[in-house]
Amino acid sequence: MIEQITALYDKNLSCPHCQAAFSSKRVRSGSLSMLKRDSDFCTYFKEQALNPILYTVNVCPSCGFAFTDLFDERLAPGQKKLVSELISAKWTPKELGGIRSLPAAVAAYKLAIYAAELTDQVHSVKAGLYLRLAWLYRFTANAAEERRFLQIAVHEYEQSYIHSDYTRGEKEMSEVRILYLIGDLMRRIEQYDKAIQYFSHALEFRNRTIETGILQMAQDQWAQAREEYKEKKKQPQVAMIS
Ligand SMILES: [Zn+2]
Repeated sequence: MIEQITALYDKNLSCPHCQAAFSSKRVRSGSLSMLKRDSDFCTYFKEQALNPILYTVNVCPSCGFAFTDLFDERLAPGQKKLVSELISAKWTPKELGGIRSLPAAVAAYKLAIYAAELTDQVHSVKAGLYLRLAWLYRFTANAAEERRFLQIAVHEYEQSYIHSDYTRGEKEMSEVRILYLIGDLMRRIEQYDKAIQYFSHALEFRNRTIETGILQMAQDQWAQAREEYKEKKKQPQVAMIS
């Protein structure tokens, strides 16, 4: 508990929907020790209960509008009306800005995803929410729910790539990085042909990018996807015998 008290601080926020002032916990940068990072950038810390992704979503206690720092700062009048009718009218005021368990973080992400869909946030913002929700399920070894949200995340990242809105989401997202990430998510949902296409696309940046770490990962995961594809083809098809 002492670790949580020193690593967390309260960030003051203003709700983009009802303008209420409230605070939400954030993790102080540099206070955690990283253990490992998966090929899709899911990061594990020695203090997993303080993984910053648990604290990415802000939930307004007054109106129930949930958002991240990447959401548009203003809502259009039509969007405000939708939020009022479909979220706030059904909301019982409650405080979700304190210390969060995994289930509480899952609940916060689901609220933010609903709010992002209603208010038409850019694909990259929605993709990031779906991907992190999948990671929360990975942390609890819930493979079915992880896969369900990875599938939606990869669809949103593809849309983000097509519409070139990925530069409006996470700061460090570049063209080669999003191509690599789509490839890796496709591999994880066993869409191997698409995975290989996206990795090959990323590798075309060989002489054009300084992100050599990503190129190496694309090379490795491309090889892995080809192996997994071969293995999958070898497996005998299970006949349905009734
Ligand atoms: Zn609000």
